[in-house]
Amino acid sequence: MYDLLVIGGGVNGAGIAVDAAGRGLSVALCEQDDLASHTSSWSSKLIHGGLRYLEYYEFRLVREALIEREVLLHKAPHLIHPLRIVMPHNQHLRPRWMIRMGLFLYDHLNLRQSLPKSKAIKIRAKDPAEPLNPSTTKGYVYSDATVDDSRLVVANALHAQELGADIFTRHIVQSAERQGDHWQVTVLDKNTQQTKTLQAKGLVNAAGPWVDTVISQRLQLTSKHHVRLVKGSHLVTKKLYEGDQAYILQNEDHRIVFVIPYRNDFTLIGTTDVAYAGDPAQVNINPTEQKYLLDVVNQYFKKQLSDADIVWTYSGVRPLKSDENADASKVTRDYTFEINDQSGKLPVISIFGGKITTYRRLSEHALQKLSPYFPQMAKPWTAKAKLPGGEIKDFAKWVTDTQARYPWLPSPLLHRLCLAYGTRIDLVLDQTHAIGDLGEFFGDTLYEREVRYLMQHEWAQTPQDILWRRTKQGLYFSPEAVAKLTAWMHNNKKMS
Ligand SMILES: Cc1cc2nc3c(=O)[nH]c(=O)nc-3n(C[C@H](O)[C@H](O)[C@H](O)COP(=O)(O)OP(=O)(O)OC[C@H]3O[C@@H](n4cnc5c(N)ncnc54)[C@H](O)[C@@H]3O)c2cc1C
Repeated sequence: MYDLLVIGGGVNGAGIAVDAAGRGLSVALCEQDDLASHTSSWSSKLIHGGLRYLEYYEFRLVREALIEREVLLHKAPHLIHPLRIVMPHNQHLRPRWMIRMGLFLYDHLNLRQSLPKSKAIKIRAKDPAEPLNPSTTKGYVYSDATVDDSRLVVANALHAQELGADIFTRHIVQSAERQGDHWQVTVLDKNTQQTKTLQAKGLVNAAGPWVDTVISQRLQLTSKHHVRLVKGSHLVTKKLYEGDQAYILQNEDHRIVFVIPYRNDFTLIGTTDVAYAGDPAQVNINPTEQKYLLDVVNQYFKKQLSDADIVWTYSGVRPLKSDENADASKVTRDYTFEINDQSGKLPVISIFGGKITTYRRLSEHALQKLSPYFPQMAKPWTAKAKLPGGEIKDFAKWVTDTQARYPWLPSPLLHRLCLAYGTRIDLVLDQTHAIGDLGEFFGDTLYEREVRYLMQHEWAQTPQDILWRRTKQGLYFSPEAVAKLTAWMHNNKKMS
């Protein structure tokens, strides 16, 4: 009998599982696919206050997100890194006073921030090193942060497990009903096609885009809140420019598009906002979105991109809290909860909306809402706790120290492992002393040792889990390399 059963292994489900387990509740988390296999790995990968939300007077959300940005930078310094963002200024789109006021608020809504404040800059298009074209001469630069979104989810799942939670991936919650003093939950293990029954005192519906489906079809309940599904797509292109800075581009339709350096060799461009009505698991970019994103970038940059520069695209569905707004990009990114109980017992809490940036705070709020049902629950604790791998004070210095401990590791591999695993790199490399100890080589910087670690410790079961969620080695892998990894995993699964 669990205290809480969490439906959904995205960032919100994983965050709630950690928080609850750390407060002494017994927790199970069921994810129908792999961890972070839906919205939580299709984001723009920003931990941000959301400068543009100020235009819609979302001061509460922006302030909370700016505070969380600071909290998360300390919680996971290997997964979350400061980012400077350049905003080329276009007087006809937004007047100077408006931008200045927005940036002033952004710098001051959280007074305790460690990141550099915003400032005005000149854009010198004549300088050959300047990637922007002469259409803009002035701009601003401000701070936010970037995150490895799918690894953030895995880090939370690891943390929840360390605190005693049971994590079931590829387990779909088929139905749940109240029976006497507990919820009886029927779960299908997709690998074995066997069903099992789990029991819990309370449920958390963190099913993201499926939150309404879980309420109506799995729980046979009704709800006054709903999610509005809005598709967002991204392009990953060959590196568009040198430098660590990102760009926020304003478009004629008043939307903004981010251009962000990605994994040393690439540039991430996104996103779009398109109303979506299909299956959230089958979402793809369409040619109109692709053209839209390329056109916005080509308006601002000297180097002109075409379809041929696109290396990868991805799309996800935002499960936004439904409001009256007709314009998809204006729908609030804030979150809300709904609790359904039976005579003050056996609650189910459903989550509508949210952002990766606010997942920890959202989890804390959800637990606060559940506290009357679990009086034994301990106090909030996650704000100061590090995520697994995150016990690092100064990331750059720690990487140098780690390099000295593993002098035989090629630098690109060492850097990738430091960014992905933080201090857990020692677990990945346990008992290795030379490159030969890493076992079979699959492609780019991926070796057997890491694959084994991911299968044993991080719930990875398929090549996709490894190539696209635990790492982004998929960006570098040839079809032959994928086939080699697939065959190896198949054989080694059989052996175990
Ligand atoms: C294009 C785009 C860009 C974004 N950019 C940013 C950004 O830069 N910064 C930011 O902070 N936020 C961003 N977001 C928002 C953020 O990604 C989402 O708010 C967040 O990932 C939602 O997490 P979730 O856990 O609620 O949903 P999900 O990650 O979708 O997780 C829900 C999970 O529930 C599982 N599930 C559903 N039904 C069942 C069932 N019956 N049994 C078991 N499991 C089930 C699903 O498989 C799924 O994995 C962006 C979103 C999109 C789409």
